[in-house]
Amino acid sequence: MKHYGLTLLYILFSITILQAQEDKSQEEKAYPLDTLDTKDKYTKIIINSDYTWSYLDIDRPDIDMDALSDHWDTEAIHAYRGVSIESLPDTVMLTLVDESHPFALPIKGQVYSKYGYRRKRPHRGIDIPLTTGAPVCAAFNGVVRVAEGSSNTGGYGNLVVIRHDNGLETYYGHLSKILVKDNEPVRAGEPIGLGGSTGRSTGPHLHFETRYKGKAFDPERVVDWENGCVRDTIFLIQKSYFNISSHYGKPDKVTPVANANQSSSTVKPATSTSGPVYYKIRQGDTLGKIAIKYHTSVSKLCKLNKIRETTILQIGRKLRVK
Ligand SMILES: [Zn+2]
Repeated sequence: MKHYGLTLLYILFSITILQAQEDKSQEEKAYPLDTLDTKDKYTKIIINSDYTWSYLDIDRPDIDMDALSDHWDTEAIHAYRGVSIESLPDTVMLTLVDESHPFALPIKGQVYSKYGYRRKRPHRGIDIPLTTGAPVCAAFNGVVRVAEGSSNTGGYGNLVVIRHDNGLETYYGHLSKILVKDNEPVRAGEPIGLGGSTGRSTGPHLHFETRYKGKAFDPERVVDWENGCVRDTIFLIQKSYFNISSHYGKPDKVTPVANANQSSSTVKPATSTSGPVYYKIRQGDTLGKIAIKYHTSVSKLCKLNKIRETTILQIGRKLRVK
């Protein structure tokens, strides 16, 4: 009896395996027949041969959509009406880039006109000459808030404004053609328009602005155009930056607070100051990184601070860098 029992078990087991294999081969027979576009360019619908369908996400950029809802307005060039500079905190720390939030230079070139007063008129961005038709790219991942033709943007010409999920907005003016629509998610490096000379412009160039809560500040505080990178992975905005006379690389005379904090988070290479310069250690810092930032060497840093190369850097500790 025992023997028959075992044989029966074996037969049942074999049948189960055969059925499973048959199911599997039927499953494998279903193959994707077609893909359909959706309103969202990063989502496709896959239609399978067995009449099933599913959504497929393709290369969706990392964007925290919830962070974009504040004063969202696709009609107005500047969305933060009623938000005064006074109502903003003195300093705001923003993450500019991390593993899933890259940066891309909107266009290669040299900044030929800087932020600030120009012939007694405020110039709230920087100008980079280009060839008409050259692709202009999004600086960071974000969602297009404004994509507007010349007739509605005043001097900006064809304009794209992108909102980023850290709260910054970037403006791209004088485009010859706009390649995106409002509410469209874009990734850093994606072409959003073609360079041109529309609006108040004397020749083909990109007018590039950076704004926080609608308030412009010198884009060169964030972007090192010459080297095609961001100045740092984080950005500490100070209220004083919203003053049109406040420039990158020029100490703010207006606010003594800015000077007191100079050593903490602004990463100006200290070329203009004489005397000791200090830097406050942040998470992720290494002596090597700090040495590069301040154009010095690890051994010089060690000597200045009487530490060794192996000394563990304590966050918040001030390090003499010059
Ligand atoms: Zn300009």
